Amino acid sequence: MVKVLKFGGTSLASAEQFVKVADIVRAEPERRYVVASAPGKRFDGDKKVTDMLYDCYRLVKSNDPIDGAFDAIRARLQSIIDELGLSLDLTQDFERVKSALLHHSGRDYAASRGEYFNARILAAYLGYDFIDAEGVIFFNENGTLDVEKTDAELAAALAKHERAVIPGFYGVMPNGTIKTFSRGGSDITGSIVARAIHADLYENWTDVSGMLMADPRCVKDPRVIPTITYRELRELSYMGATVLHEDAVFPVRQASIPINIRNTNRPQDSGTMIVEHVASNKVDTVITGVAGKPGFTVIAIEKDSMNAEIGFGRKVLEVLEENGLCFEHLPSGIDTMSVIVNDKDFAPKREVIIDELQHQTKPDSIYVYGGICLLAVVGRGMAGAKGTASRIFNAIAAENINIRMIDQGSSELNIIIGIDEEDYVRALNAIYHEFVKE
Ligand code: ASP
Repeated sequence: MVKVLKFGGTSLASAEQFVKVADIVRAEPERRYVVASAPGKRFDGDKKVTDMLYDCYRLVKSNDPIDGAFDAIRARLQSIIDELGLSLDLTQDFERVKSALLHHSGRDYAASRGEYFNARILAAYLGYDFIDAEGVIFFNENGTLDVEKTDAELAAALAKHERAVIPGFYGVMPNGTIKTFSRGGSDITGSIVARAIHADLYENWTDVSGMLMADPRCVKDPRVIPTITYRELRELSYMGATVLHEDAVFPVRQASIPINIRNTNRPQDSGTMIVEHVASNKVDTVITGVAGKPGFTVIAIEKDSMNAEIGFGRKVLEVLEENGLCFEHLPSGIDTMSVIVNDKDFAPKREVIIDELQHQTKPDSIYVYGGICLLAVVGRGMAGAKGTASRIFNAIAAENINIRMIDQGSSELNIIIGIDEEDYVRALNAIYHEFVKE
C-alpha cells in the first residue's frame, strides 16, 4: 500500500507546523511520498513565501535592489531550519538562487523556489530523499503537461526511492527553464505523483477538515461532507466551493485513486473522501452540498411560434459563439428561450450581442436582466429520491424569495436555481437547514 501526501502552505508555514507534518507522515509506514508547498501564511496578514518571491522578481525587473526582500525570504526559511534543529546548510543554495534571480531567470523560476527550499527542508527533517520536480515533471512547448514523459520519468525516479519529498508547483520546459502550474498548483503535483506510483490514496493535507456542505462565510458551522464523488465535486467547485486546484482532479480520477482532504491541525478528523462512485445506499444527507455564484445575466428572448421555427436555437447560440461567449444555462419555453451568461464576459459585448440577436432572430422582444445569482444544490442522493425539488422550493418560498430560473440536469445530480443576488445568503441558509437538521 502506498499513500502520496501533499501538504499545503499553511501546513508548512513554520517549524511548529513541520513538527505536526512529521507526526502525520510517520504515523503510517505507507505514507511514502510527500509533496510540499512553499511556506504559507502563519497568521492573518502574513505573507506567503511565493508572494515574497514574486516581489523579488518584480524588483529585479524594475532594476531595484532585492537584498531586503531576499533576506526576508532567507530568514523565514532559515528560522524553520534552526527551530527544527537541523544541520542542513542551504547557504550556497540561497546565494545561487539570489544570483539567478538577479540574472533574470524568470518569473516562474522565482516563484518555484519556495517549494524547492521547503521540500529540501522537509526531506532533511523526515530523513526522506529529495527528488527535484525539475527532473520529473515535464511541460510541453505549449505549456501543457507532457503527461507521458512525466509519468514515465516520475515512475522511474520514484521506484529508486523508498521514501521521498518532492517540491510541488513546478516542472521544466523542453528548453530547461522552470515553469510553474497556476497558483495552488502543488495540488496538481501531488495528483501526478499519486498517479505515477499507482498510489492507493492521495491525501491532501490542508487547514480545513474537508469540504464543507456550504460556504462557512454564509452558513454558520456547516457540516463537513464525508464522501463526495468527482462529479459532485466538479459541480460544487464550479460554483466557487473550492478545496482543491481544479486540475488536480483529472490525473487521479483517471487512475481511480481517491483523494482524501485532511486537516494538518486536526489529524483526528477523517476529512472528505473524494471518490468515483459511492454505493447509492451510502448517503448521509439527500444533498451533498449547496453553493452559489453571483454575477450572471439572463437574456430572455420571446417570439410567437418560436417552437415551430427550425434553427431558432442555433441562431441564438451562433451569435454567442461568434462573440466568444459561453452560456451557462438555456432554459426554454414554447415561445421563449433564455440564455444565462456570465456578466463579466457579457457586459463588454452587450450592445453588439443584442443587436445581432435582434437581427438574426427577429424576436418579439428581448429582455436582459443582470444581478442574478446561480445556486447549485448538488447530491447523488437526489437521483430517484422523490420530493427533493419540492423541499428546496418550499424552503425558498418560506423565505419569500423569488425564483428567477430553474434547471435540473437529467442526471438528477443537481438542481440549479437563479435568484436575485441580494437573496443569496438567505436562500443558501434556507436550503442548507432544510436538509441538515442539527
Ligand atoms: N506556493 C504556490 C502558491 O502559493 C503553490 C501552492 O501552494 O500550491 O500558489
